Amino acid sequence: MDNELKPCWFCSTGWPEIKSNRQYAWVQCCGCYASGPPTRTEAEAITAWNTRPAPVVTDEMVKNLKALADSINGNCYLGEEWERKTVNALLAALGAGHE
Ligand SMILES: [Zn+2]
Repeated sequence: MDNELKPCWFCSTGWPEIKSNRQYAWVQCCGCYASGPPTRTEAEAITAWNTRPAPVVTDEMVKNLKALADSINGNCYLGEEWERKTVNALLAALGAGHE
């Protein structure tokens, strides 16, 4: 069985690992806590994690991200520097750079 887990789709830096309880197994990223769907076996959890589609970014998500950028870029009392940088970098990466 190939049980190598692919890197996290969301943060690409965290270590995904297999979690389980009495009923389910799933894969969860230790960096950002993104998780795959609960499955019956660890092998299914690995397959589900490794074959999940890349997240889709919708216009609505970009619109909300821009609104968030507007609120924290224009107000020095809102948001930390790393939050400002993250939001602006995300918009730039999405080709929706902040004017
Ligand atoms: Zn992650």
